Amino acid sequence: MSMDTPGSQSSLHRANLERVLRAVRMAGSLTQAEIARATGLSAATVSNIVRELKEGGTVVVADTSSGGRRARSVSLSGDAGIVVGVDFGHSHLRVAVGNLAHRVLAEESEPMNVDVSAEQGFARAEALVERLLVQAGFRADKVIGVGLGVPGPIDVETGALGSTAILPGWTGIAPGRELAQRLGMEVYVDNDANLGALGELVWGAGRGLGDLAYIKVASGVGAGLVINGQIYRGPGGTAGEIGHITLDEAGPVCRCGNRGCLETFVGSRYLLNLLNASHERELTLSEVVRLAQQGDLGCRRVIADAGRQIGTGVATLCNLLNPRRVILGGDLAEAGELVLSPIRDSVARYAIPSAARQLSIVPGTLGGRAEVLGALALVMSEMGETGVIGHGTAAVGARG
Ligand SMILES: [Zn+2]
Repeated sequence: MSMDTPGSQSSLHRANLERVLRAVRMAGSLTQAEIARATGLSAATVSNIVRELKEGGTVVVADTSSGGRRARSVSLSGDAGIVVGVDFGHSHLRVAVGNLAHRVLAEESEPMNVDVSAEQGFARAEALVERLLVQAGFRADKVIGVGLGVPGPIDVETGALGSTAILPGWTGIAPGRELAQRLGMEVYVDNDANLGALGELVWGAGRGLGDLAYIKVASGVGAGLVINGQIYRGPGGTAGEIGHITLDEAGPVCRCGNRGCLETFVGSRYLLNLLNASHERELTLSEVVRLAQQGDLGCRRVIADAGRQIGTGVATLCNLLNPRRVILGGDLAEAGELVLSPIRDSVARYAIPSAARQLSIVPGTLGGRAEVLGALALVMSEMGETGVIGHGTAAVGARG
């Protein structure tokens, strides 16, 4: 790659090229008119750039129709590069291998014990990544990058995992560095709520939207925020910690040290405790959801109350950020309308009407795959500005 002077003709061209590539990467495929709209570039500029990318083998162009008119759809070439997603949850490890044309080529999930050490966890991730690459038929040097999801906050400066209730022995380690050393690949890390948001944005219930919030309700409660098509993390990486909104100053003590946080009303531990007295044995959250769907009144009540509390948090979020869509993910989302309807009631009650007017509140469509698909999308979203990332792999002009 040559060194361009900022502001020069060729650096401007490169910047435009990257804008086009990023728009196509994130959408999967776009018509040239859609690319122009998404990037703000003129139709002529887009047309020239697409021709150049097509000649280099980076994109493929196919005839399609858009609104009844003939159009040409642009997507990344299937062999423009391979991306890998790794998701550590509180009871599973999930890995996916995909290409830049949005095809998932191999995917697998295996159960993982909560008290597995970081060492064991990464060894298993390494083995699963290697096995799935073989299954997909690609060598490791075809991999452009690995997206890694962890169920806790990542310190932006050190890359270290902050306190997590879910993988207690992992606090303080830098998961991105660990996995990069083992695999010899570029690794991008983010928390599970942000990856869920990216997954639903690129592959699921948020497709085509620029502004959304993904609320993950499981052991903890977190939100991934997408603003103008990008994840908003804040300077410390803690944006979206909706679980620690105070609902009751005299409420139960939260793991963050405060009292009465949203999480202490809707986190799975709290919900399951509520049912101890009325049910003969300890339930899991998915059992509670199933019993509620079968008509168990206690389980229904617990889920409805949780929905009302979540809705209070969502209303605050709407007043601050005015997202177009709120997508519910995590185990509780499986309850469907039993939890969504009370969330909508609370939002109608507590959000200012203008913030709620254009809002839709929907369940995620990816279920437990949202994070690992989000990890694939994270690589597509964060790949280097000029398309050159890690280990000398060039995404742009790879043929040249
Ligand atoms: Zn808290």
